[in-house]
Formats: sequence, structure tokens, C-alpha cells
Amino acid sequence: RDGTVLVTGGAGYIGSHAVLALLDAGWKVVVVDNLVTGFDWAVDKRAKLVVASIEDEAVVRQTMRDEGVIAVMHFAGSVVVPESVSDPLKYYRNNTVASRSLIESAVAEGVKHFIFSSTAATYGIPEQVPISEDSPKSPINPYGMSKLMTEFMLRDVAAAHPINYCALRYFNVAGADPQGRSGQSTAGATHLIKIAAEAATGKRAAVSVFGTDFATDDGTGVRDYIHVTDLAAAHVDALDLLIARPQESHTMNCGYGRGFSVMQVLDAVDRVTNRTIERRMEGRRAGDPDALVADNSKILATLPWRPKHDDLEGIVKDALAWERALAERG
Ligand code: UDP
Repeated sequence: RDGTVLVTGGAGYIGSHAVLALLDAGWKVVVVDNLVTGFDWAVDKRAKLVVASIEDEAVVRQTMRDEGVIAVMHFAGSVVVPESVSDPLKYYRNNTVASRSLIESAVAEGVKHFIFSSTAATYGIPEQVPISEDSPKSPINPYGMSKLMTEFMLRDVAAAHPINYCALRYFNVAGADPQGRSGQSTAGATHLIKIAAEAATGKRAAVSVFGTDFATDDGTGVRDYIHVTDLAAAHVDALDLLIARPQESHTMNCGYGRGFSVMQVLDAVDRVTNRTIERRMEGRRAGDPDALVADNSKILATLPWRPKHDDLEGIVKDALAWERALAERG
């Protein structure tokens, strides 16, 4: 594997796992991260870390030149949906405007391939579940819109310049590196499995169940939880595809194609810990759809990628192991 991959947001949750997957596959990696939400210790020592904003064109372009960057994996961005509603301009800046600057640097430096962290939030409330890539895109929050706008930029740029791209639309990412090298470290997490892991390790007293009257079997929300290590592996395979077929670009869902309810997730946590986490039934959060499950037939048909960690208890176990390691770290 020749050349270096520039990973933005490589000090963050998903980015740090992608760095591990790339290094394990034999790639050289340079991370650009401003460490606003990421941690320098989350970046594997085999990678180089440049602490900078992706909007700092001088630094980004110099890094691309100095390191011989052939591809960008772009994870940097803001990801808290309710915050995107209260502060939309932050999201259009960090996710859309900053991406524009990064893409411009990549084009200017002749970087050939671009892999983008997109999201199931681009679909909004789906008309049909499982959701295929060509379903209507009608985001219901600025987060989803800020990501969709970046997808549109990439489409148009790839038509105009010698660069191809893959946009991966993530469903619910959870878990941690099974070897314990990284995990979700962000304080103030809002995601269910992270919250449940915090409850299981005594960081919080209970887990709120947001909504019990959804149109699902047990009334709680259903999501397609994908192990972060599988997600990271999909990026490495996507890069191989972009290199092998430089004329093609792709947009693909990343999920397992099956869903679990909030109750099923909490049951799994209880089984793994052999304890009972207190559940507090509460009202719905604004804008939560009943069910979000990926139609993953496209990624299965396009990449050699196959899920290796499609096991809810395994995802929970890895998330818990990381949570315990974080607690020990203090
Ligand atoms: N959820 C919950 N309690 C929590 C966090 C999440 O009941 O403390 C529910 C949420 O309503 C949704 C599912 O768990 O049905 C997954 O939510 P999460 O925030 O993890 O991801 P999202 O699907 O919103 O991106």
C-alpha cells in the first residue's frame, strides 16, 4: 500500500478506529485534528498527528505535500443532533464550510480519493424501513442537512476534477476496539449504548428510555447498531475500491440491516453485566423516528466487506470494557 492517508478527526471516536484499521492494513497515516472534541492519546503512535483545523488551508496543503497524501478520510465534524438545532450555524460551519475548504485543498494538491463520514440523518424520517440509498433525502435537523450538503459538494467536485469519493452513511455506531486500543471517550455522550455503559459502570444512576409509544414491537425506538471496528474496516475496503476504480464514486449505507429496540439494548447490557440497570420511562425526544434500519445490500454487493462483529452483546461488551478502562484512567 503506497502513499499516505490523511485522516481528519483521527483523534475522535470513529476516526481513531479508522486510523487503527488503516495502520493494521499497512497504510501510512497522518491525522489532522484540532482536538476540540478529540484526544491526542487516542491517536495510535504509528500515525503522525498534526494539530490544526481542517480549514487551515496552508497547514492542510503543506501536510498533503509533505506526507505524500493520496487519499483523505474525513471524520472531523460536529455530531450532536440537538445542538445542531439550537446552533445551526456551528454545524454549517464545522460540517459544511470546513468540508468545502478541505475538499478544495485536496483538489488543489491532486489528492485522488476522498472518503466521507455521512449519516442516516440525511434520510430524515424514512418512508420505508429498511432504508435504501435512493430513498428520499429529507433531513429533519441541521446536522443531517450539513452532511447532505457535503455529499452534494463531493458529487459535483468529482464530476469536475480528477478525484473520486465514497460517502458512507452511518447508522448507529457503537462499541470499541476489541483489543482495547480505543473507544468512545467523549464526555457528555448522548448515545444509548455509551449511556448504558456509563450506567453499568456507576457513572450514572439510571438510563432514560425516550418514548415508549413508537410503532415498534415493544414501543421503544429501533436502531441498527454497528460495531465501530466493522465500520472502520468498511472505510479501508472503500479506499481500495476508489483506487481500483478511479472513475467511480459511491454512496453506501453502513449498517447490519437489522434493528434492536431500546429495551433490547438494555436487556443485552443487563445480560452482559448480570445486573439490572434502572430504566426511567420518559417522553420522546424531538425528531426521533420509530425505526432506522439500513438496507445494506449495496455495500455487501460493492465491497468485500462483511460484518465481523454483528452481535449486540459483543458490541455492549466492548463498549463496557472501554468504559471501565476510562474509569481507571480517571
Ligand atoms: N435513547 C434512549 N435513551 C438515551 C439515549 C437514547 O432511550 O439515553 C434512544 C433514542 O430515543 C433512540 C435510540 O435510543 O430511539 C438511539 O438513540 P441514540 O441517541 O443513541 O442515536 P440516534 O438514533 O438518535 O442517532
